Amino acid sequence: MKKYLAIAFSVILTACTQATAPTGVAAKFESIKDNDIALREFIQAMPKGGDLHNHLFGAVYAESWIKWAEEDGLCLDKTALAIRFPNTDGCGDLPTMKAALNFNQPLRNEVIENFSMRDFVPYAGWSGHDQFFATFADMAALPSRFGDMVAETANLAGEQNVTYLELMHTMELFETILPMVAGEPMTGDAEADYATLMNGSFGAALPEMITRARRDIDTAMARKDELLKCVTEDAMPGCSVEVRFLNQPVRTLPASAVYAHTIFGWELMAQDERFVGTNLVAPEDDFIALRDYDDHMEQLDYLYKNHGERNISLHAGELWLGLVHPSELRDHINNAVKIGHAKRIGHGTDIVFETNYKDLLKYMADNKIMVEINLTSSDALLRITGDEHPLKVYRAAGVPISLSTDDEGVARIDLTHEYMRGTQEFDLSYDQLKNMTYNGLRYAFVDDAKKAEMIKALDEKFAAFESQF
Ligand SMILES: [Zn+2]
Repeated sequence: MKKYLAIAFSVILTACTQATAPTGVAAKFESIKDNDIALREFIQAMPKGGDLHNHLFGAVYAESWIKWAEEDGLCLDKTALAIRFPNTDGCGDLPTMKAALNFNQPLRNEVIENFSMRDFVPYAGWSGHDQFFATFADMAALPSRFGDMVAETANLAGEQNVTYLELMHTMELFETILPMVAGEPMTGDAEADYATLMNGSFGAALPEMITRARRDIDTAMARKDELLKCVTEDAMPGCSVEVRFLNQPVRTLPASAVYAHTIFGWELMAQDERFVGTNLVAPEDDFIALRDYDDHMEQLDYLYKNHGERNISLHAGELWLGLVHPSELRDHINNAVKIGHAKRIGHGTDIVFETNYKDLLKYMADNKIMVEINLTSSDALLRITGDEHPLKVYRAAGVPISLSTDDEGVARIDLTHEYMRGTQEFDLSYDQLKNMTYNGLRYAFVDDAKKAEMIKALDEKFAAFESQF
């Protein structure tokens, strides 16, 4: 009797083992997890949903900034290693980029490294965080290169079988809005401040700004299609990538400029379906960003309740112990989702430092608030890797997550790299990775019909991909 029981038990055990052991594509994935080259090949070809956290200026690689500066006659400040625009009399004392870098590979290398994290090693007084954010002040291009940037980013995505891109982009801010409102005093009362801005020169100029921004997007998208040969038989991979934009107010600027730019984005979203959301950017640990954080949330709350609901994603909790005073770690994510109406959170690295973080995780899971996780960025800026990163905390709590690139040009990565990193650092299974890539479409800010269309297309791509194994 004992023997039969043992046999029966063994049969059950074998059946259970067979039922849970990966087969087909999942087994193939498990077998190559530790082989960088094989994993790269597999994930690059694997169909992908959306990259929902991608700053257009950060997505462009240094070589492209240099190439455009050379072609457009821009100048190089060799001391700062920064691109400068020419005056009416040309570059003056500065060389043109073309002249400076002509047959000068060492200087070219220095410029590339100044525009990125390539070969960067932190040193006393200059961290990865400092290097990362400093790049943006030195890179520059003519406004006419907007379409070139979209083309580069879309094509890199297309080469990796990415379906959808949401590109964060800043329009009209530095050239128009900031000089117009910088001196405007704000009270912190979102309703009163809205009236002040709209009754002043900003409100009067807003319709013109929206018209200009929409025209600039038309021009950029046409340029992207032209560069990628989208209406020819030689259409490049980027042509198949669906592109949308998020308005990108800069949270380190004066309160009036942040609010006015947020209002600008609110109106742009109402008028142009290519702008699908808004996201506050720039270092969250900056003095002004910290000081005004709650005011920014109140501004979003006021607009959301009084001027039409919009899609909001927020960089929140991109902080860590030591970077800021501990009191700053307690409520940014909470306030972003509960006051700022964020449907998605960017980074969210400091979640376990938030007051009552388990309740917050449950709230995010119940309300399907997704976290955009940027592993290389968190490593480069905050030095958070592996078990220090809360990816597993979010997963265990049932909070939806997706992997994204943040600034692939500055970090010199791509989305495939981030999927590889997620796989190897967190031992993700094929099904977990697949679920995350679908989240990149499920939580996209497009309308329901477009979302359903993209998910169906992704289903078909996966069926074809998986049939190989
Ligand atoms: Zn970001």
